[in-house]
Amino acid sequence: MDQLHIFFLPLLSAGNFIPMVDMAKLFASRGVRATIVTTAGNLTRVKPAVDRCPHPIRILTISFPSSSVPDNMSDVPTPDTCNEVLEALGSLEAPFEQLLAEHRPDCVVSDMWYTWSADLAAARGIPRLIFRASSAFSGVLSAAISSSKPHEGVADDDEPFLVPGVPHRIELSRSRLMYSDELYAPLRGLFARMAEAVRRSYGTVLNTSRELEPGYVAGERVWALGPVSLCNEDALERAARGGDGCGDCMDWLDGREPGSVVYVCFGSMGGFGRDQLREVAAGLAASGHPFLWVVRNAGDASEWMPEGFEEEVEGTGRVVWGWAPQVAILGHGAVGGFVTHCGWNSCLEGASCGVPMATWPLFSDQFLNERLLVDVLRIGVAVGSKKFGWLAEERTLVGAEDVSRAVKEVMGSGEEARGRREEGEGERSCGGGEEGYGGGRIFLQ
Ligand code: UDP
Repeated sequence: MDQLHIFFLPLLSAGNFIPMVDMAKLFASRGVRATIVTTAGNLTRVKPAVDRCPHPIRILTISFPSSSVPDNMSDVPTPDTCNEVLEALGSLEAPFEQLLAEHRPDCVVSDMWYTWSADLAAARGIPRLIFRASSAFSGVLSAAISSSKPHEGVADDDEPFLVPGVPHRIELSRSRLMYSDELYAPLRGLFARMAEAVRRSYGTVLNTSRELEPGYVAGERVWALGPVSLCNEDALERAARGGDGCGDCMDWLDGREPGSVVYVCFGSMGGFGRDQLREVAAGLAASGHPFLWVVRNAGDASEWMPEGFEEEVEGTGRVVWGWAPQVAILGHGAVGGFVTHCGWNSCLEGASCGVPMATWPLFSDQFLNERLLVDVLRIGVAVGSKKFGWLAEERTLVGAEDVSRAVKEVMGSGEEARGRREEGEGERSCGGGEEGYGGGRIFLQ
């Protein structure tokens, strides 16, 4: 029989293309001929992972005609500029159609944001599978809130309401949701087209597992294939996800006590203003725990770093500028906690490495994912972020005391902290048996 040939078309954002590249690797490991289609500008981020893959995967590039916006959402100056990138996605339709005609794959796995790929696949009579990069939990909660509108019955944005009709007791507030017309309106048309394209697709593949989202993965032709990061079998494969970076931080971790370091990272897009960066720095120093902190888009450090910070944390704290190999770090035995913005990949990666988390959601579905970690899986402690904001200045400031408190709680040795660790306990999944890494996994694929 001919080898099945699948095209993978990831969205131009690290949180979407990293798991889709992992998924392509997973299919390739099962004998599928996998081809990843991306833009020339994303090649440097996708290629290292593909080069490290023990199974052959092809990359085809298409050009991104828009010159006014970058072709990666992780490179846009502020998260709201992402809308411009999303609008420019339509320009990929024609070059993608040409590749379909040339290579005639048997199936397309397309990020859900490319609504037009439904028509292109239908025109060729091949199935289109949708890749949704977010959690099933956030999808179920959003649908429950949209249909029952519990947020309309509260007096103000901070008053909590219960989400009706879901398997767990989940409280939210309007301030944590993207519910306002002002925020939602620019994307309304795209969301409607997306829902329509879902109806015309063969099914959905999710980066999750039913154990991780108990009672939330549902629907016909919905496949939970995650956590897909587990397909990376050795340290080099794990470090190659999303590009290179971090310098000698893995060596630095090798020199730390087991479980002693808190890893701090706010994903590929989560930027902070100077005031907030200063509070994070002060909070980490005050926590007294060794830390590895990934800082992106932070401008000139002298404008926000507290005086004497570097001297105070010398030998115990490490700042990584730009990008770090997150899954390799989370799988390192020295890491005992994770301060996360609750992007879905980060939640999965922390959970599958058995690392308890201090949750600090910023925007998107992150406030919903926080509830999964804190209320359902009980492996998270909320730092105290209460206001959704695409832009740093729209959010409320989280003070150094809250940062320090949450880090101490997550890294602590008290009963609750031990309980959280035990919830995620088992052998670590990210490791592959090398020195400094655990073996096995807690959430099976
Ligand atoms: N990531 C990484 N190094 C970094 C920042 C992010 O490897 O310095 C990876 C992380 O492991 C995850 C992805 O980028 O796979 C970010 O996805 P997530 O859903 O957590 O957040 P987003 O960036 O979409 O907000």
